[in-house]
Amino acid sequence: MDKKTIRDIDVYNKKVLLRVDFNVPLKDGVITDDNRIKEELPTIKYLLDNGASVIVMSHLGRPEGEVNLKYSLKPTAVRLSEYLAKEVKFAEDCIGEDAAKMAKELESGQVLMLENLRFYAEEEENEKTFCEKLAALADIYVNDAFGTAHRKHASTYGVAKMLPNAVGFLIEKELKMIVDTINDPKRPFVGILGGAKVSDKITIVESLLNKVDTLIVGGAMAYTFLAAQNYNLGNSRVERDMIAEAQRLLALAQEKNVEIMLPCDHVVTNNFENPTVVKNTVNANIPNDMLGMDIGKQTVKLYKKAVKKAKTVIWNGPMGVFENKTFENGTKQVAKALAKTKATTIIGGGDSAAAVIKFGYAKKITHISTGGGASLKLFEGKVLPAVDVIENK
Ligand code: AMP
Repeated sequence: MDKKTIRDIDVYNKKVLLRVDFNVPLKDGVITDDNRIKEELPTIKYLLDNGASVIVMSHLGRPEGEVNLKYSLKPTAVRLSEYLAKEVKFAEDCIGEDAAKMAKELESGQVLMLENLRFYAEEEENEKTFCEKLAALADIYVNDAFGTAHRKHASTYGVAKMLPNAVGFLIEKELKMIVDTINDPKRPFVGILGGAKVSDKITIVESLLNKVDTLIVGGAMAYTFLAAQNYNLGNSRVERDMIAEAQRLLALAQEKNVEIMLPCDHVVTNNFENPTVVKNTVNANIPNDMLGMDIGKQTVKLYKKAVKKAKTVIWNGPMGVFENKTFENGTKQVAKALAKTKATTIIGGGDSAAAVIKFGYAKKITHISTGGGASLKLFEGKVLPAVDVIENK
């Protein structure tokens, strides 16, 4: 990688402002998954071991630019302190007199965590004075928040321009695993896309057609592609205004000799909220009074076979409404196929990462990204603004 990492800078006796992604799921103030905190420990430990003091900053949830203690980062500071086995001081505000005083008094080897950056609208606006106030807290800026690296916010972009800077080990690892794999894949290279909305993923479908040998499509996304081939989809979630675009992509795939695999059968139900009737269809058509909720049994077999043949697999988006046990099979079986193969397997954050973890296959995957949106941008071959802004080596 051509960007500076923390190995390339001298942090001894320096105050390091470290942007992390501690946007962890919370239930009644209790962290339900602390993977993002664990993933950050190597960077924080390295900085401390090399004589820095570390000022940790992050966002959590969507407080919409207002102080809302439901989104306080305090629980993450407590958890971090447990993992580091040392005190993590906590500033009740990310800027202002108290934060400035606490940062000033911080000594080598100590850790200070700032309150949620998104309590200020200026964070997402990348507002200059807000950036200056954050930058004034430290000597060096380090970004390790892969989950927000596709955003041009104050703490991910603006501050970087005001201080000597580098990326941390998590961003370094994510870039290495995802970019290196996509740029130089062992073939056959299979991409798997699922989830709900074609409109969200249209650009990634198009760019993947330049990279993969086979593109497997599942989830509600598949229905728009099937509608483009004149199948009957009943009451399934079809994005009518994207049908023409789906037709164009199917033709483009043919031109590029990329196979797009679509479901040949489905698990369908009578009602999304209250599914009293559940059936496997006999083909790709869905009866008028039913809607698709998962890929069917035959489709599962074909998708698993395609994964088995692959040497590289990237996956984003579930195959069905996996949150409901009745409709989890497609996603579970695809996760299992990825766990079983010796191929390089990369999972792009979000729901598919949650599914793989939920089904117990996480350890068998080559790389599970910590950032859904950011990894999708990398799948597309785009540059992440928060990485782009970091100094070159
Ligand atoms: P996305 O955010 O686009 O990755 O979409 C993830 C969501 O897609 C999950 O919450 C799934 O429940 C949903 N999903 C997957 N398959 C279907 C389907 N067949 N019908 C409706 N929603 C679906």
